[in-house]
Amino acid sequence: MSRTSETRIALVTGGGRGIGAEICRRLAKDGYAVGVNYRSDDAAASQVVDEIRSSGGSARTFRADVGREAEVLAMFAEVGEQLGTITALVNNAGIVAPQSKLADMRADRIAAIFQTNAIGALFCCREAVRRMSMRTGGQGGGIVNVSSVAARTGAPNEYIDYAASKGALDSVTRGLATEVANEGIRVNGVRPGFIYTDMHADGGEPGRVDRLASSIPLQRGGQPEEVANAIAWLLSDEASYVTGSIIEVAGGR
Ligand code: NAP
Repeated sequence: MSRTSETRIALVTGGGRGIGAEICRRLAKDGYAVGVNYRSDDAAASQVVDEIRSSGGSARTFRADVGREAEVLAMFAEVGEQLGTITALVNNAGIVAPQSKLADMRADRIAAIFQTNAIGALFCCREAVRRMSMRTGGQGGGIVNVSSVAARTGAPNEYIDYAASKGALDSVTRGLATEVANEGIRVNGVRPGFIYTDMHADGGEPGRVDRLASSIPLQRGGQPEEVANAIAWLLSDEASYVTGSIIEVAGGR
């Protein structure tokens, strides 16, 4: 693909499966060259890239654990070499652990949740700002952090650690949006509700979305593309006056 100063380049963390994969497909359709980050599932990430390329888009895989600083630094350097300077970052990588009360949670579980969901996002935001900031010669850009309605509900009896990590992520969204507002960077968030992905199986309940559907005002779980739509809008010029905002994509829950 020939690159011009108009080329839009997005890095999507956790882009190999679930919501992230849908974000990658959508941004590719919107004309972005897409970096598909993932942690270990090579086949899933490669399939997303193959689909994008067969539809005429541009994408590459970038394997890195966002919770490991050295891997994040190497990934951003590689993205710069392979795709160019990013104009959009979606911090979507996130994990849950099996449903549990706080009283039964081990320290290593809590630390792992924060390392990916909050610290990993901080590492990626920092690297993106270093490249996008007009204060230091960059071209500006957009960042979207994928939080959760759990940040608001606290996810009692299921995953308070996860909810707290998403609360931390919302603080990053608010603080960073203000910090870089005059550097050409908009920072926003989305809070999905119950979305059909494999993540619920990781929490020990594959059928969780269907179990909870009747408690959702719209009476159904959400699809990954419904989250991707909001993210694509936040990154687009249509949202040029939107920063520090967090959109709930949760069926009214
Ligand atoms: P998912 O289907 O489990 O997919 C998670 C993706 O993140 C995978 O591609 C995985 O890589 C990647 N990942 C996990 N840890 C990583 C790490 N340390 N470094 C890099 N990549 C990592 O999850 P999802 O349901 O699509 O969730 C996506 C985001 O939406 C998460 O932040 C989640 O908290 C949030 N969210 C989801 C829901 C929901 O109902 N599904 C609701 C609210 C918020 P591999 O493929 O290599 O394993």
